[in-house]
Amino acid sequence: MRRVVLVLADGLRPDAITPGVMPSLDALGGAFTLALHARTVRPSTTVAALASLATGVAPHTHRLTEPGLGFLSNLRSLRPVAVELARGGITTDVVTGELGPAALPVAWSLAATAGGRRLTGRGSHARETAAAANCLLAQREERLLFVYLPDCDRAGHAHGWMSPRYLAAAAEVDAGVGALVSRSNDTVFIITADHGGGGVTRTEHDAPHPVNDHIPLIIAGPGVTRRHQLTRPISLLDVPATILWWFGLPVPQRYEGRPVVEAFTRVHGPVAVPA
Ligand SMILES: [Zn+2]
Repeated sequence: MRRVVLVLADGLRPDAITPGVMPSLDALGGAFTLALHARTVRPSTTVAALASLATGVAPHTHRLTEPGLGFLSNLRSLRPVAVELARGGITTDVVTGELGPAALPVAWSLAATAGGRRLTGRGSHARETAAAANCLLAQREERLLFVYLPDCDRAGHAHGWMSPRYLAAAAEVDAGVGALVSRSNDTVFIITADHGGGGVTRTEHDAPHPVNDHIPLIIAGPGVTRRHQLTRPISLLDVPATILWWFGLPVPQRYEGRPVVEAFTRVHGPVAVPA
């Protein structure tokens, strides 16, 4: 049973992951593999980062920083992770919190990430969305499950990054992810974010700034290196390469990231070293 759950906590800053605010993620990062210096792509926006996760290339290559008519067809000229996985018999599903009309660009990117298979929008809070994800995991099927949790980004835009309401949203994300991880001990979890926030403007995250660019990355589950801190620079672009590699599939040469091999003590399938 090969399963990876990729949790994207929109706008989650690594410095919000403390024992007091996010006890589950803090414990997972300590017990398994944690990246101390992980960065998102530029621009540090959700659509650009989601498209990079979906295609393995940086925004200057995919040019999908805004939704449009050419969005999905352009993706097909790239090598989307979901398409590569489908070639290996692995399906990709997306579970997301309910997205209003304002989040249409995000929905576009998420649909692209799913490779058009299935997108479930469920829950106004991370715990409800995580419960919907848990229902999908109850089906004994090999897959990549992408779980998108918008809670922190919403609170950051409304009240400021690291504000009390933002930290409450982080705690909600922690409760949702913690419940999901505790019920899925046969699954590898990759927990990250698309960007930070509050670096230049309290309630924004687009401008170049270390606090906007720095993202958490926790890899946990069976076969993951224990009590390990990745001290070298890690990019969000390393995540799609890592997923394909973990499933034993070739990483397309045009992918701009590289598998984080030191996070794993064993992988499934033949190990494909990227060219
Ligand atoms: Zn945002």
